[in-house]
Amino acid sequence: MTILNADLHCHSTVSDGTLDPETLAERAKTRGVELWALTDHDEVGGQQRASSAARALGLPYLSGVEISVTFCNLTVHIVGLGFDPGNEQLVQGLARTRGGRGERAREMGAELAKVGIAGAYEGALKYAGNPELISRTHFARFLVESGVCRDTNEVFRKYLADGKPGFVPHRWAALGDAVRWIREAGGAAVIAHPARYDHGPTQEYALFSEFKAHGGQGVEVVCGSHAASEYPKYAELALEFGLAASRGSDFHSPEESHTDLGGLPWLDGKLTPIWELLADRIQNA
Ligand code: AMP
Ligand code: MN
Ligand code: MN
Ligand code: MN
Repeated sequence: MTILNADLHCHSTVSDGTLDPETLAERAKTRGVELWALTDHDEVGGQQRASSAARALGLPYLSGVEISVTFCNLTVHIVGLGFDPGNEQLVQGLARTRGGRGERAREMGAELAKVGIAGAYEGALKYAGNPELISRTHFARFLVESGVCRDTNEVFRKYLADGKPGFVPHRWAALGDAVRWIREAGGAAVIAHPARYDHGPTQEYALFSEFKAHGGQGVEVVCGSHAASEYPKYAELALEFGLAASRGSDFHSPEESHTDLGGLPWLDGKLTPIWELLADRIQNA
């Protein structure tokens, strides 16, 4: 079943999206999504709302999360799908992972003040639907609102990317821990948007090998943060490493995201879709 409008990556107000879980569920349904997962950053607080809303709409649902990981001194994202959101080890691991975000955000505010941008921490906090989950996205929205930049892309390029004045390095979860939390909670781990990382081919190979060795099962191939020209490379890597393929828009906001829910091309038929491995974890109406 590679031809299924599955959308297994998006964000709500519980992390750095601008729509709440119920509004996202309706939008997914309206836009033809046939299998949905909400994957907030480092947080499963929206899972109950998302699955209830999906059930009420007759939209099949998989639980989801996107865990921030530090691998070879770079940040990598691992999506978890089809796990038990009440699993104690996972819940505690996520709480530790997001625990440093408040302090990091205050430091980001201080660094931005040094380059003449005052009040960024307080400004970003206003945008954070969940104060525990303050992220660079919230800073980007504040900097656009206050006229410092035209759009969030420009904010990241000038202020928030690694090496820019508002970037504060942070140590997230270890790769092996993130994969283990997801697996031991009954789910499957997936490498999110592999084309977006700044690592070279050696580190990419190391990421795929170590992820696989830890029990990771999938990789995003068709994804809103990939260009269409990048799909074939990751389709080949999925086959080479024996990983299933996932598909997700990474939708955050109608104003900011260029790929909407359900708006992606199909997965290549030679790939094993991740939802085939998770058939018994899908919540139906
Ligand atoms: P954080 O977890 O606080 O480091 O924030 C990471 C989030 O920033 C990602 O999940 C994206 O939503 C957003 N982001 C990262 N890079 C960019 C970019 N170049 N343009 C817009 N948003 C970005
Ligand atoms: Mn995000
Ligand atoms: Mn991500
Ligand atoms: Mn994401």
